[in-house]
Amino acid sequence: MAASTERLFSILQESGKRYDTEKIQRAFYYAEEAHRGQFRKSGEEYIYHPLSVAEICAELNLDTDAICAALLHDIVEDCPGASLEGIKTEFGGDVMVLVDGLTKLVAIPFEDKEEEHIENLRKMFLAMSRDIRVILIKLCDRLHNMRTLASHLEEKQRLIALETMHVYAPLAHRLGIQRIKQELESLALQYLDPIGYEEIRGWIDTKYGENRNFIENVKKEIGEKLSEQSMEYSIKGRVKSIYSIYRKMYRSNKSFDEIYDFYAVRIIVDSEIACYTALGLIHEMYHSMPGRFKDYISTPKPNNYRSLHTTVIGRAGVPFEVQIRTMEMHQIAEYGIAAHWKYKSGQKSGDGMNKKLEWISMLLESEQKSMDSEEYLTPLKIDIFEDEIFVFTPKGDVVTLPTGSCGIDFAYAIHSGVGNKMVGVKINGAIAPITTVLQTGQIVEVLTSSASKGPSRDWLKVVKSGEAKNKIRGWYKKEKREENIQLAKSEVDKEFEKISKGLPEEEKERIMLTISKRHGLESLDDLYNSIGYGGIALSKIHVKIRDEIERSHAAQTPVALEVTQTSQAAKKELKKSSSGVIIEGLDNCQVKFAKCCSPLPGDEIIGYITRGYGVSVHKFSCPHAKEGLASAERDRWINASWAQNAGEEKGHTTYNATLLLLVADNIGVMASISTALAEMRIPISAINTQASAAGTSLLTITIGIKGRDHLNAILERLKKNKEILQIRVGGEK
Ligand code: MN
Repeated sequence: MAASTERLFSILQESGKRYDTEKIQRAFYYAEEAHRGQFRKSGEEYIYHPLSVAEICAELNLDTDAICAALLHDIVEDCPGASLEGIKTEFGGDVMVLVDGLTKLVAIPFEDKEEEHIENLRKMFLAMSRDIRVILIKLCDRLHNMRTLASHLEEKQRLIALETMHVYAPLAHRLGIQRIKQELESLALQYLDPIGYEEIRGWIDTKYGENRNFIENVKKEIGEKLSEQSMEYSIKGRVKSIYSIYRKMYRSNKSFDEIYDFYAVRIIVDSEIACYTALGLIHEMYHSMPGRFKDYISTPKPNNYRSLHTTVIGRAGVPFEVQIRTMEMHQIAEYGIAAHWKYKSGQKSGDGMNKKLEWISMLLESEQKSMDSEEYLTPLKIDIFEDEIFVFTPKGDVVTLPTGSCGIDFAYAIHSGVGNKMVGVKINGAIAPITTVLQTGQIVEVLTSSASKGPSRDWLKVVKSGEAKNKIRGWYKKEKREENIQLAKSEVDKEFEKISKGLPEEEKERIMLTISKRHGLESLDDLYNSIGYGGIALSKIHVKIRDEIERSHAAQTPVALEVTQTSQAAKKELKKSSSGVIIEGLDNCQVKFAKCCSPLPGDEIIGYITRGYGVSVHKFSCPHAKEGLASAERDRWINASWAQNAGEEKGHTTYNATLLLLVADNIGVMASISTALAEMRIPISAINTQASAAGTSLLTITIGIKGRDHLNAILERLKKNKEILQIRVGGEK
């Protein structure tokens, strides 16, 4: 039977989106023609592979150009006579760029390497893709290859599965495409640890068999409850994926019975508020497991995943996880970045699209970077690694360097011995000046000679990486002591001239000796050596010389000294503090908030100097503070006040408060409380119920707030609820 686009077109039609079917059909014929006579390992005609990849792309509802590129993705690589130029003429520049991107990715080598190297590989992958659709097509390509991996040799299977687990599944995860991520992981695990895979599958079957109706019953119970409240919902039950159980068991070293979210139900409701209402109802129906509540709606995960999670205990003590979200949150959870194509079809690149793409740039950023980056992407372009480039060694290892780095940076990144003996560089096989700025994707080879006299001081001016600078300085420190000292002496002399002309030699020497002592250096020569090789910056020495001269002046005029000190103290008072608290006389000290009284901005406060952990801040009215001030330790208590900015950082809730609510055991009380908090956009970080005296329950909720006034407003609002019999703030009377 000949390959046909029948299935592909039916998927496209189901999507309800508009496609240029004529163009897609043409791309199919073009690919079929180019691959004619080629066969896959399984023996089937090659065209089935690009066709299947196009079908998977169609399931993600990628656009016409992406589907064409999927059909054409292997022809430049594999088919003589096919060229990018040809694709451009036939299908336009956009399709050509996508195919080109896919072809380049094939060239990235992968071997069994360490985690750090793999992280670089992932980044390089992203950096080289440029257009996000390239990565999505590549993921579909990999998914099809994994589905058909059985026909490869065993060694090849292992390598491809490993690469899938280390590079492709994490990429799918970062892009938030759970569907593809889970299938890739599951397929890869079957090849990497077939015994472990089967073992867990067996356990799941047994456990599921024992509680066959458990999930069905839970779904029914919850469904009835939600209907009672006339809520719109849909509800699904599931068991956790084999790979996520595998990971929990082997990475976190848990036993099969310790996996509490083995069973899960997912409730989809029609609004954010309804999520919290449903949560309240669930907590009324079942006991919640402490510490398992997560509010990813008010605090989304880095890949923009949003949902409420809680684990509760069902009949016969079987725990299960409940996830509550809206349809939109669900689409993003399943399809991540691809949800953009799937559900926002009619939209052309406008503001809405830019907004959607903002979070993509955030989730693609390396984890170490802060999340509040303001840069965002122009539509469909990936330009996120602006500050890093990725180049290869001739052996195919990836080296990460700061943007603007040259061959010298590369040489020192390999080894200081290579840098120190460097005489030239080859970029992509051609000799180039060692100061040539490198680009992502280049293969770089360093030429060395044992006759080299070592690095030049001028290199310090061209290298970009701190590593290269340090290593060059290190060489000078060791090899050129005399030269350094001479050089530094004349430089320092110039600085003295600038600051205070005509200072007597012995005075200069006294100042330099003081400075060297401050640096913990043995001799003046050591200090000069450090300055000479750049270990201590001349600009710092300049400041220190000036300080020393001022100090000796001041010593002669004590009144002036006092004035400067007070004004400096006053300046300190005005400084902003990151914790939102200013501690008298202490700058930048570590501040923590006492748990006994949880002070909030607006409260009168006092600091306690702990033994070894900065300053602990209490309310002035806290019993500990009162006792402390009356005790022998009174010296440890110091004045503290709130900085002007405390609690006011843009919408951020920076403090936790625990509310203890005594509530009537009425149906709907949990729901109305969580709804009220949701309406005020108060994030809930923990929630717990406990039966209390007859007809009442004690509810403990930890919420994020901005300060005392904010808390008071929340309390006012909650007090309006008649079912709340008593409210207490944790740590307060
Ligand atoms: Mn392929």
